[in-house]
Amino acid sequence: MTDARPLAADLAPRILAGERRALARAVTLVESTRPDHRAEATALIEALRGHGRQALRIGLSGTPGVGKSTFIEAFGMALVEAGLSVAVLAVDPSSARSGGSILGDKTRMDRLSRAPRAFIRPSPSATHLGGVARRTREAVALCEAAGFDVVLIETVGVGQSETMVAEMCDLFVLLLAPAGGDELQGVKRGIMEMADLILVNKADGDLKPAATRTVADYAGALRLLRKRPQDPEGFPKALPVSAYTGDGLPEAWGQMQALARARKDSGWWDRRRAQQAAHWFEEEVRAGLLARLRTDPAIRAAMAGLAEDVAAGRTTPDAAAAEMLARLGQGG
Ligand code: GDP
Repeated sequence: MTDARPLAADLAPRILAGERRALARAVTLVESTRPDHRAEATALIEALRGHGRQALRIGLSGTPGVGKSTFIEAFGMALVEAGLSVAVLAVDPSSARSGGSILGDKTRMDRLSRAPRAFIRPSPSATHLGGVARRTREAVALCEAAGFDVVLIETVGVGQSETMVAEMCDLFVLLLAPAGGDELQGVKRGIMEMADLILVNKADGDLKPAATRTVADYAGALRLLRKRPQDPEGFPKALPVSAYTGDGLPEAWGQMQALARARKDSGWWDRRRAQQAAHWFEEEVRAGLLARLRTDPAIRAAMAGLAEDVAAGRTTPDAAAAEMLARLGQGG
């Protein structure tokens, strides 16, 4: 790294050495939208490229109340106790998430947040989805460079954020609560199709029979989905777990490992990561162009002028758009 990016040059080797404070600082850096921070963040991610470490990236989705925080605390602790290091990142693009509930998450992940082999980072305050995507993706890259074995990316069950998380993880887990059969409709088909593993939480005490039924319902629903050629027989799967008692957590982890191994062996894992990188490249170009449309004064003036011409009937929407795109192609 050159001296032009002193922060990136300072942080990169420290992150690679697994230094927690450097990692936390770097995550703060990638969350910033200040142009000079952006440049440092881009330089940092570039400086960390090619370290060859790969974490198992697990996306975890579920509507509020299904027990995501409780599950992450129990599952994360089980992994830590098995000698693995775990990073937890949260994605919540909705502005409803106040500072209070972030604190709430932290308290529910009390043990994990104090575990030396764990790193927890709540969702940054609300920004647009594109900003959240970039920040999370870069935070994942930072955790991977810092040598974490597992990176959990938690998201709430609201459509777009799931799709985004699925594009940055290796496995996608959907957490559900026990429910009556008709509530199966409540889970969007698209989200079910994304899931590699459906975990029905709260399979304990009085809720156990309902959880068992829910697992059977979803197992049936999953069998109706198209089998994925890259995956072994039986996936996607539905399993019962209890974040309270810890029942089912070793089985769930076993299934995740089995799926990851099979995907690595078949070469699908690397292909998928390459596809994801290409996807994010395109997204960044798109986001960059949109940002220029919004902020570049010359482009805004040209847009306004052409919009007037279209409104006055002096040109057509298509012709004006073609002209605008040609101008953008010439750098505005
Ligand atoms: P989140 O909103 O998805 O993060 O859900 P929380 O982790 O906050 O849990 C929501 C509620 O479900 C809380 O009252 C938890 O105590 C409860 N809960 C979470 N996991 C379990 C479980 O395994 N069994 C039972 N019975 N309750 C649970």
